[in-house]
Amino acid sequence: KFSNSLIRESHRLANLVQELMQLSRVQSAPGLENATEVDLAAVLIDSIERNQVLAEKRNIRVQGATSESVKILGNYEMLATAVRNLIENAIVYSEPGTQVGVGLKQVDGVAEISVTDSGIGIPESEQERIFERFYRVDPSRSRETGGTGLGLAIVKHIAANHGGEVKLFSKPGVGSTFTLRLPITVQED
Ligand code: ATP
Ligand code: MG
Repeated sequence: KFSNSLIRESHRLANLVQELMQLSRVQSAPGLENATEVDLAAVLIDSIERNQVLAEKRNIRVQGATSESVKILGNYEMLATAVRNLIENAIVYSEPGTQVGVGLKQVDGVAEISVTDSGIGIPESEQERIFERFYRVDPSRSRETGGTGLGLAIVKHIAANHGGEVKLFSKPGVGSTFTLRLPITVQED
């Protein structure tokens, strides 16, 4: 029992260190050095794949839908980190047996990646604060999920680094949709 909790705590610590490093990295990159053309459909598929084990563990189906190829100028790893964090949240803050939808589309020169869940939702009064570092809604209940409250702060920085933003639509007991909106700075070929 003791070694189990030791393992759990060391995982938690490793996670915390990794997130702190990620946050400091995206904070110190106000612009985008070495930006390349990034295929957002590939980012989506990659981010879904990296959450597959977690999704199976929680019995949640993550459904990706991309009909078009959307490319932007940016940093692949950062974008994948952002989408992965959103999908992870959607899985963790949902009941087993539900579905998570991930979509990609292009609207008026803006690429939109949306992650929708039918989970616990977020009260209106908390919807701004969840993007702050270390802020978690109901820390006692979400203790079992073991997060640190840095995920969305990282997502917000990554969006800003790409000249974009994160939009949130959520209703307690119904679910949430997080939308990453990124201006398209690359010509379609
Ligand atoms: P971690 O740093 O491991 O990501 P975290 O998930 O608690 O920890 P954030 O991703 O920043 O941190 O999310 C902050 C809080 O916002 C969460 O603790 C949770 O209360 C709430 N939240 C985030 N995403 C969702 C969601 N899809 N549905 C319901 N609540 C959410
Ligand atoms: Mg999180």
